[in-house]
Amino acid sequence: MIDFNRPAIVGKELTYIKDAVDQGMLCGDGKYTKLCSAWMKERFQVNQVFLTTSCTHALEMAAFLCDIEPGDEVIMPSYTFVSTADAFVLRGARIVFVDIRPDTMNMDENLIEQAITERTKAIVPVHYAGVACEMDAIMALAEKYHLKVVEDAAQGVEAYYHGKALGTIGDFGCYSFHETKNYTMGEGGALVFQKNEYQEKAEILREKGTDRSKFFRGQVDKYRWIDYGSSYLPSEMNAAYLYAQLEEAEKIDRKRHQIYNYYHEGLKSLEEQEKIQRPFVPEGCKHNAHMYYIKVRDLETRSRLITYLKENGICTAFHYVPLHSSPAGRKFGRFSGEDVYTTRESERLLRLPMFYNLEMSDVEYITEKILSFEF
Ligand SMILES: *Cc1c(COP(=O)(O)O)cnc(C)c1O
Repeated sequence: MIDFNRPAIVGKELTYIKDAVDQGMLCGDGKYTKLCSAWMKERFQVNQVFLTTSCTHALEMAAFLCDIEPGDEVIMPSYTFVSTADAFVLRGARIVFVDIRPDTMNMDENLIEQAITERTKAIVPVHYAGVACEMDAIMALAEKYHLKVVEDAAQGVEAYYHGKALGTIGDFGCYSFHETKNYTMGEGGALVFQKNEYQEKAEILREKGTDRSKFFRGQVDKYRWIDYGSSYLPSEMNAAYLYAQLEEAEKIDRKRHQIYNYYHEGLKSLEEQEKIQRPFVPEGCKHNAHMYYIKVRDLETRSRLITYLKENGICTAFHYVPLHSSPAGRKFGRFSGEDVYTTRESERLLRLPMFYNLEMSDVEYITEKILSFEF
């Protein structure tokens, strides 16, 4: 059976975990957390990086730092993971969903303005499959209406929009290092931002509401309870695993693009025959081969294709059930305008196996099997 996803050792993961243990400090913010943060600051040209226990937690921190209050509205696509919405709902926000663009599956930037009300506090673009949302348009709206922008860049690590790393363009960016993402630490994530004025508040929030970070820097002689907080910092063992992956970022990136490009070329004829649609990457976007998906005619065709591929030993996966149609989505949000594409496109989409250790012979086999399917 060819898996849909499998985490891989790509470099010194186990050596670094052993070293973390040998350091005699397993809790957060030690050697490897610092190495990961420094690596991201340099690579993504961003001033502040906070390694977290998940992207979900990074989003929760961002919602706090945006001062979301009960009754505030937050605009986002319905075609996303639950955490994008849940992080803001936990602060009492109402979610306003807007439709997606069928070409990228990203929030349609042209539908945001009509969803803005006087209660709107933030826009949350989700960079689906590591392909950037139209950030210039989104940032212009945010400026015009004085809104915060939180980028859900869970899938967008090492992807770019006109040369800028995803996650570093809005007020806050949230990354995921879950085992299904390009670079992993099992469970983990990061909150990144440019404005140093948020640094102190973010530190306190992440360290149980205390000024422990200042204490460790020798800036205060004891640490105290200062404000709201939780525990959002990951263990050094997880950070050690991630650092080994970041060191091999080029190798991981190259392999994922190799797989992506093979599928993309191999399935081109099906698109020409109008049997499927392949992913689209707009001008100015550099994607990170996070995912390879195809879109088939309809739900029925997708179900047949999934069964057929499974019979041939290939695991595939569809993706999000639109949030606005789920129980919590109905309770905590509303859809602005008409759902023209969200439901329809989500029912057509199928993700193909994509992971570092996937053999190219398997990629060839998967492509052949899809080519011989009766669409
Ligand atoms: C994976 C993912 C998340 C959640 O990431 P965790 O690190 O598992 O919390 C959030 N949003 C999107 C778009 C994702 O793909």
